[in-house]
Amino acid sequence: MVAAHYDTVERSPGADDNATGVAAVLETARLLGQFPTPRTLKLALFDLEEVGLVGSLAYAADDSLTANLAGAIIMDMIGFACHTEGCQQYPAGLPISPPTDRGDFLAVIGDRGHMSLIDAFHQAAPSELPQVLSLPIPLLGPLTPDLLRSDHAPFWQKGVGAVMVTDTANFRNPNYHQATDTLESLDRPFLTGATQLVVNATAALLSTPGSLTNDAAAPAPNLLEETPTTPL
Ligand SMILES: [Zn+2]
Repeated sequence: MVAAHYDTVERSPGADDNATGVAAVLETARLLGQFPTPRTLKLALFDLEEVGLVGSLAYAADDSLTANLAGAIIMDMIGFACHTEGCQQYPAGLPISPPTDRGDFLAVIGDRGHMSLIDAFHQAAPSELPQVLSLPIPLLGPLTPDLLRSDHAPFWQKGVGAVMVTDTANFRNPNYHQATDTLESLDRPFLTGATQLVVNATAALLSTPGSLTNDAAAPAPNLLEETPTTPL
């Protein structure tokens, strides 16, 4: 499944947050919808992410919708880049050393139980596209709350593999939740490249049937209760 939330916060047009994610869902549909693949492509657009992941929580709670769901690619803000030294910030407690202080990479945050979802982004990444920074998260260990702030978290809670694909939101974009989150403030080449990465990874995953789950997979039923967080 490829998905994004379509709501925004009051007073913000929501170009990066999250019209960019919606555009990438629509572009994925346009490019891949006409090709038969071993695995079925599902698309979803969630409402009310900003008030507490309401749409994705409702979706993930419905067993009939998740029974055959092999994995989810969730986009939340994929259209902003910054190219000067120090313009990229990181949340505290990150399990890796950040490789750069410039905000020109695409972050892919996944659970360790479904590494093939993360790997698909690296396999399908020619050098002219934005660099992918991936973060495999062990769900049973302590989590930094910033890594749970979008629609992928309800799927992790359910034990369904999911990745959040993002430009890192407020850790890079000064227009985050502001009136200035407009079309003009987006980095269009970055958005195009990020969307291409999503389409490539999705195409690769659709062509390989079978389980996307590896040994470390486990649902984390109390994830959102134990790690209180604010939605992106
Ligand atoms: Zn937001």
